[in-house]
Amino acid sequence: MFDKILIANRGEIACRIIRSARALGVRSVAVYSEADARAAHVELADQAVAIGGPAPRDSYLRGDAIIRAALDTGAQAIHPGYGFLSENPDFVTQVEAAGLVFIGPSARAIRAMGLKDAAKALMQEAGVPVVPGYHGANQDAGHLAGAADAIGYPVLIKAVAGGGGKGMRLVERREDFAQELQSARSEAATAFGNDAVLVEKFILKPRHIEIQVFGDGVDAVHLFERDCSLQRRHQKVIEEAPAPGMTPEMRAAMGKAAVRAAQAIGYKGAGTVEFIVDGARGLRPDGFWFMEMNTRLQVEHPVTEAITGVDLVEWQLRVAAGEALPKTQDALTITGHAFEARLYAEDVPAGFLPATGRLEHLRFCDAARNDAGVRAGDDISPWYDPMIAKIVTHGATRRIALKQLEAALGNTEVAGTVTNLAFLGALSRHEGFQAGQVDTGLIARDIDALTHEPDLQDWQIAAAAAFAIELPRCTDPLAGFTLGAAIWQDVALDLGDAPVGDVRIAVTGASRARVTLDGREISVRAEGAGLRVEGAPGLVRGCCAHGRITLFGTVPRVLWLRDPLLREGALAAGADLVLAPMPGLVKAVFVVEGEAVEIGTRLAVLEAMKMEYTLTAARAGLVAELLTREGAQVEAGAALVRLEDGV
Ligand code: ADP
Repeated sequence: MFDKILIANRGEIACRIIRSARALGVRSVAVYSEADARAAHVELADQAVAIGGPAPRDSYLRGDAIIRAALDTGAQAIHPGYGFLSENPDFVTQVEAAGLVFIGPSARAIRAMGLKDAAKALMQEAGVPVVPGYHGANQDAGHLAGAADAIGYPVLIKAVAGGGGKGMRLVERREDFAQELQSARSEAATAFGNDAVLVEKFILKPRHIEIQVFGDGVDAVHLFERDCSLQRRHQKVIEEAPAPGMTPEMRAAMGKAAVRAAQAIGYKGAGTVEFIVDGARGLRPDGFWFMEMNTRLQVEHPVTEAITGVDLVEWQLRVAAGEALPKTQDALTITGHAFEARLYAEDVPAGFLPATGRLEHLRFCDAARNDAGVRAGDDISPWYDPMIAKIVTHGATRRIALKQLEAALGNTEVAGTVTNLAFLGALSRHEGFQAGQVDTGLIARDIDALTHEPDLQDWQIAAAAAFAIELPRCTDPLAGFTLGAAIWQDVALDLGDAPVGDVRIAVTGASRARVTLDGREISVRAEGAGLRVEGAPGLVRGCCAHGRITLFGTVPRVLWLRDPLLREGALAAGADLVLAPMPGLVKAVFVVEGEAVEIGTRLAVLEAMKMEYTLTAARAGLVAELLTREGAQVEAGAALVRLEDGV
């Protein structure tokens, strides 16, 4: 076994790898960017090396600096985590040329699976079922249209170099094919520098079921399936293992196909073979097709660990150190059911926009496995993926594990940024999901119900007012009493941009207050850090920092303490200058200087964190200055467009 390894990553996955390494007696070296100098993974590691600026290309993507850090600290191997350099075959070659071990597959295996067309051809040769379609070299538009006719509509056009759903187009009618091909190609050319595409049958009610494989370069085993059908815009939201409705026959067939895929490329380490399954026809041993192979550890690997009892990172280190596979196929079994929910700092009502902020408060539910890369007090910066944690539950049955997930989400407390907690909670209570009826279209079909914000209850407003004055700290038995009469104060609260009624509060004794809301009176009493509020279903937990009041619980809510000056100032500035909300690439600019715009006119598209974000005018007027151009890389807060009053 190694004495010391370097982890070329950050956040939760770096922390998770450090922990498994430590359990094996292996010391760890973290690397970090300027933005991460005080990050959790830096503190957790035995040693840490600064490798550059906050932008990934200046730090976590700098293979040379990372290899140097490994050599300087005497690390013998590099674990790439996921993302960043994890699937970069050139990096693997450089690591090995420096005399270090890459904890993962060979450069050759990564290359073989790097392009969708070549991977499909390779899999077909190995006898693995692939989605019917054309993945050949002839890229002539007429030829591809002919292939689409032969496959039968609807078809999917996919960039061969694709990832994250980019360069992918659904074509339902023959007459749209030429135009969609054009658009997929141009998107692929910008995103990947490669405009080649393949055409395949579009599966109508697809389920995404993937198989965890593990190889030692000679043998390979599979660790069963994960169902990742709950997706939003091709991004996984909640994953589970095993897949609902899976039969032993289909599991055996999928496992066998995945192992064949791994063996075909002499696979070493942890990998995932992704299949698409036709949910409309039920789970049948002949109803799954290869989509792609991810040659690294996946974000959702903990659900597999939960049901198999295997520590996949431990296996990665052991196999990379030269050991054979720790277990044979027969020795691997499934126990119970597991779910993983991805908790993100994101603004769901604003269209799941990545959010930033300082985590004023962060508390997880003890009953779940919480893989986090941040602590209370840490910042969610605009530089990286805004994931806060992965919340994983494991129970004897699917029903139990899902109940545990719902409870764990309800007991997870985050303040200081907006999160997708309420959305995840709603999803955990979704009837179809509870019944195991999952497909990749579920979230999109029910997005309104899943993101619906229920009306604020009186008890929530009363609790917000009490947190605003920090009632849990008012323990002085004489508090509030002046000659026997309580002093009433106004609490101006906003929900979004709308004021919340006429709220007043008076402290009436130690830890006690009365709130009036449009004349209705509600009594409140602090109990520990929480509140007992008249009409509330239980103890209300929450906090208030910098004017933001967060109520935790099953349906977390954020209210604002109004500061009229601050708000109006911010609005006025925001209306004239259109700023980049995060660092990213300006994909398109729709206006020219001097052009008149209305409220809501599309100004530009910013591509950041795997998402496209449309910037619109917050006021009517004229484009006074265009401060950016298409193709520009911009920092968070950069002014892109300046508007002024029209004539
Ligand atoms: P990317 O690498 O860009 O993420 P994938 O090939 O992995 O693209 O596909 C992403 C998602 O798109 C899948 O998880 C699935 O939901 C959907 N998808 C892919 N291929 C098909 C298909 N042939 N029919 C229907 N949906 C598909």
